[in-house]
Amino acid sequence: MASIFTKIINGEIPCYKIAETDDFLAFLDINPNAKGHTLCIPKKEVDKLFDLDEVTYMGLMAFSRTVALAIEKAVPCKRVGMTVIGLEVPHVHVHLIPLTSMDDARFITKSAHTPEDFEAVAKAIRAQL
Ligand code: AMP
Repeated sequence: MASIFTKIINGEIPCYKIAETDDFLAFLDINPNAKGHTLCIPKKEVDKLFDLDEVTYMGLMAFSRTVALAIEKAVPCKRVGMTVIGLEVPHVHVHLIPLTSMDDARFITKSAHTPEDFEAVAKAIRAQL
């Protein structure tokens, strides 16, 4: 069965899109640790990061870097942190999280957002790409 992220890639489920290439997609995490929390995924559906072929792995890192630099310009924070977990969704995704404190990196404190908040931050990040 297709992962929820493959359904997003195929347009079957909506997302707040940040960036897209032939091989990768970035969109806002729907349950963010902090404003601007973004997921970068390969379109190729693979469960675990280190099972990616090397070209896709390196491409995902380069794509994530481009997106992270845009987040850092658009969202007030001390830095953008990068985490890979994957215990919930078995489709490789890099979490890019604007950090102002260690709590933002802990996936415990969640930040509530309205659709308007998501739209606004997605637009601000896209403007920095
Ligand atoms: P993990 O697999 O533990 O790295 O976590 C999966 C992440 O995907 C969580 O932070 C979820 O909030 C996020 N997530 C799950 N479904 C969606 C969705 N439809 N759109 C955006 N983010 C999602």
